[in-house]
Amino acid sequence: MMIKINGHECACEKGEFLLQVARRNGFEIPTLCHHEAIEGQGCCRLCIVEVVERGRGKIVVSCVYPIAGECEVYTDSEKVQRQRRMILELLRARAPESPEITALCEKYGAPRIERFVEIKESKCVLCGLCVKACSELSVGAISTAERGIDKEVMPPYREPSEVCVGCGSCASVCPTNAIEIVETNEHRTIWGKTFDLIHCSRCGRVIGTPEELAYAAEKSGEEIATLCPDCRKHELAKAMSLVYGD
Ligand code: SF4
Repeated sequence: MMIKINGHECACEKGEFLLQVARRNGFEIPTLCHHEAIEGQGCCRLCIVEVVERGRGKIVVSCVYPIAGECEVYTDSEKVQRQRRMILELLRARAPESPEITALCEKYGAPRIERFVEIKESKCVLCGLCVKACSELSVGAISTAERGIDKEVMPPYREPSEVCVGCGSCASVCPTNAIEIVETNEHRTIWGKTFDLIHCSRCGRVIGTPEELAYAAEKSGEEIATLCPDCRKHELAKAMSLVYGD
């Protein structure tokens, strides 16, 4: 089926999310909580667009809006711009220390609104992507706790988590770099817990923490990795050439 985005005909499947179709067709829509590896969340609401169906316009969150039928979409209408600026201003009050949010505010012309109380020293916009990454890709060691302006992402009771495997997935998906991860050649510290690091037995590159590798092995049913992905490929290719010849 076809829909119109900013006046251009775009092919799509029924049920596809608007954000996906818009991006595939080269339209820029800002997002914070969207990640390709994780199902749409619709938390930061930055990806709003205007949809006109049967002559009626409405603002929708494009990352979780499935296309149901023919419609016209406007990614940068006046209504979208106005509401996006307000969303950004709220995000800036939530995370005034975040350079990423400051840059987005500048890019989209969001004015500083004095009546919004800023949360001191915060870079976290509470988009929940880290929590989802941990529960979907890892062990579910973190969650949001407290309420209102005290709401935060943390391990239970703010203590170093017993179940965290130190994989760093939470930090790698965070759109505002709000999760501190400190890594040397030997150790990784995250959420107040320090892990040893294992190195690839062939090239010496860091391949993960012992806990992370054991968890991955348990999940996949394979042996605990001792090689990095590149060296594993290399070893596999070598083994294949020995069996089948060059
Ligand atoms: S480092 Fe810990 S909290 Fe972060 S995703 Fe991995 S297991 Fe979860």
